[in-house]
Amino acid sequence: MLKFRVRLTLIFITIIGLSVTAAGIFMMSVLKESHLTEMREGMFRQLNIISATVEWKSSGSDDEIVEYFETEALRIKQFAEARVTFIRADGLVLGDSDEEAEAMDDHLSRVEIQQAKEHGSGTSVRFSNTVKHNMLYVARPVIEGGQIVGYIRLAVGLQDVEQATWRLWSYLLSGLIIVFLFSGLISYRIAQGLTRPLERMTKVAQQISRMNYRARVKVRSKDEIGQLGNAINLMADSLQFQVNRIQEDESRMKSVLDNMISGVLMIDRLGHFVLLNRSAEELIGFTSQELLGKKYDEAKQQFELTRMIEDCFERREPIRDEIVFYFPEERTLDINLAPMTDGFGDWHGVVIVLHDITAIRRLERIRSEFVANVSHELKTPIAAVKGFAETLLAGAVNDLETAKSFLQIIFDESERLNRLIGDILELSKIESKRIPLQFSPVHLSGFTDKIVHMMQAEATKKKINIESYVPEDLYIEADEDRLRQIFINLLSNGVNYTPEGGTVGIKMESVGSGRDEKVRIIIYDTGIGIPKKDIPRIFERFYRVDKARSRSSGGTGLGLSIVKHLVELHKATIRVESEIGIGSRFIIEMPVLQ
Ligand code: ADP
Repeated sequence: MLKFRVRLTLIFITIIGLSVTAAGIFMMSVLKESHLTEMREGMFRQLNIISATVEWKSSGSDDEIVEYFETEALRIKQFAEARVTFIRADGLVLGDSDEEAEAMDDHLSRVEIQQAKEHGSGTSVRFSNTVKHNMLYVARPVIEGGQIVGYIRLAVGLQDVEQATWRLWSYLLSGLIIVFLFSGLISYRIAQGLTRPLERMTKVAQQISRMNYRARVKVRSKDEIGQLGNAINLMADSLQFQVNRIQEDESRMKSVLDNMISGVLMIDRLGHFVLLNRSAEELIGFTSQELLGKKYDEAKQQFELTRMIEDCFERREPIRDEIVFYFPEERTLDINLAPMTDGFGDWHGVVIVLHDITAIRRLERIRSEFVANVSHELKTPIAAVKGFAETLLAGAVNDLETAKSFLQIIFDESERLNRLIGDILELSKIESKRIPLQFSPVHLSGFTDKIVHMMQAEATKKKINIESYVPEDLYIEADEDRLRQIFINLLSNGVNYTPEGGTVGIKMESVGSGRDEKVRIIIYDTGIGIPKKDIPRIFERFYRVDKARSRSSGGTGLGLSIVKHLVELHKATIRVESEIGIGSRFIIEMPVLQ
């Protein structure tokens, strides 16, 4: 396909060329015709003179007549500068200035002679075999006594005329070529002027289609082409605006989806995964690359999910279920499937939202376990109180000795109940973080001395020695009350689980430096120790290694649990080292600055 510009140029050139050629041809024929007419008229005039001056000889022998006309023909040719032929009425050539008369055929059939016979004069242009070029013939009859006795004919070669015509033609042709070139050049420029803006617009439109929405047409005129350019620019503006908006919306939606804690998946009406956010990848344990574009029942993925999607495809109504996935890790997921329909009720596929409810379920379990434990723990002392009170009422009150010991038990049990309730309340307060910590610098040496002093009475009762090694210059940023609670809980455990004559101690040292500076607090005893298998569990609520012993020592099973929480509130860590029969060491590492 030729370019529009070239086609336009060719059309221009053809129109110009055709009109110039037509004009040339017309001019040529007019010129040639007028030239011929002029020649013809001159020759007729000569013919008239010749017929007036030449006597038509008809007497004598044929040879004489022929000789006469031959001589006359040659004579006349001298001044007429044309070929002269004398022809008898019957067509026999009597004399010719250029040829041998006897050798010439019957001339009656010649066009000019026929015309002369009928109209009194005749003319024709013809290729002459005798002289081998075009000749102009004119003839008129010779009339004597009302009768045609013969014809006189003049003939002139047309080579001059033809030469002149050819010369004219060549002028015309070269003129034509020049006009052609010029018109070609001019029309090319005009076409270019017309098509260049169109080409530029085409280029811009192509760029826009290749998603370069910044491409614009430079509008130079106010005509239709300029208007087209403006229209393209406006279109590009609105396209750019809309694409920007779509991209913005898309990235906003993507960031929302990617930052959602819930997993979102989308499946089109044919069952292909079309969207999968980051949380969904994590929850179901398969990546976008593995799933996008694949059919839900062909892709390798969670079996339960496939089953639910299938269900939703069949029933086309929302489905909700709680399912435990064992891969990539054990999780409880709340899975919601909803069919997607557009405003016209057309079905588009399924959207799936996954919520990780593992933590919620675990918390619920812990809570209900806790409630069960608490009820159980409360029941024991209450049962004791009730039992002994009943026995007293049934008559034991009369035996003073028994009554006293029973009342002592009732008192101890209610005391334990009180402690238990106190600990439970404390734990729930700490856990719900209702009371914020009040951090202040604590001088550890002085602080430890006070606590040791407080514990002294209890220790002395069991003949246990309490020792402490705390560097004088050690300070820490902590909530003093809570810190005290940690120490007391650990120390009283030490005293409780150490047989008479043993030792309980506190040792502190500074570890790390700069921002990581910590204080290592070791509370140790030379007690009964904790079996290896129980160590991971002793910080659990109500967990006791030996229930009877804990109870007899007045323990609630909540002390270490409270310690662990308080330690964590101080961004510290706690661990235990213990050996049966030798003793235990609780090691806390607490940052100096909070
Ligand atoms: P309790 O009120 O029973 O002491 P804790 O939460 O303080 O409850 O401790 C949990 C369990 O850990 C105790 O029942 C005991 O078996 C064990 N335990 C705690 N501290 C020591 C220790 N210093 N020596 C030996 N066993 C200990």
